[in-house]
Amino acid sequence: MDHSTRVQDFIGDPVSDSPPISRDDLEEVFQDIQADLRFDHELNGCLNCGICTATCPAAHYYDFSPREIVQLLWTENLEGIYDAMQEKIWSCAQCYTCAARCPFGNSPGGLVMLMREVAIKHGMQSAKDVLRPFSRVMLKLISTGNQLSPDMINPDHFADWGPNLTKVEAPLKLLRKAIPMATLNTTETAWEVNLKTSVELYTIWEMTGVLDQLETIDENLFDVITDIMDEKREDWEDFQDEQDDDDD
Ligand code: SF4
Ligand code: SF4
Repeated sequence: MDHSTRVQDFIGDPVSDSPPISRDDLEEVFQDIQADLRFDHELNGCLNCGICTATCPAAHYYDFSPREIVQLLWTENLEGIYDAMQEKIWSCAQCYTCAARCPFGNSPGGLVMLMREVAIKHGMQSAKDVLRPFSRVMLKLISTGNQLSPDMINPDHFADWGPNLTKVEAPLKLLRKAIPMATLNTTETAWEVNLKTSVELYTIWEMTGVLDQLETIDENLFDVITDIMDEKREDWEDFQDEQDDDDD
């Protein structure tokens, strides 16, 4: 007698070219989300009341609902979770209005963050596509500890931002000179980060797995950033050697 169940071994859309996903892969993705220490703090149950979605700014503009995300996780809908990670989770603005309003103390925005991290860990195409336009920001952030500098906000660097970018075009060099703090007078950095701080940040990126994640989603950017890190570490060692020589 055939005791097979209705649970499919492979999940796929019959009219799509995308290859089917094995049940093992779906389970691994969910287990990675569930294994995060934050998961149990951010998901305590769900009334399906929709308060989170009613207050969510992203839900007003996109095909996205924090209530739906929480329900998928709460009911352990593996296929739905994987599907949401292909597009929907990238709509969240991480404002955490939902977390402030949920009567169960859930944090839908926090759960979305976990799902994003797991999407990156698994090298999902959605993560690669979403993060590609931000490669310059990641380069800056990871290599210096700095984020956007004013000289990066120009139409050449952010073509995907469309015509609205002209609104932020301004005589930046002149405007920055008006800022009282000398470290903010430049347009080349958002603020000055000294060499020691940058090098210490590299240890944090390595120990926390940020660099491994970067290598998974963008190998070229990873190579560029590790070259910069090597150079700055050498500069820091040279500086320390010079200090030692001066002390002798
Ligand atoms: S996550 Fe909270 S606010 Fe959103 S539907 Fe569930 S119980 Fe309601
Ligand atoms: S954190 Fe995300 S899901 Fe929550 S309200 Fe803000 S945009 Fe919506």
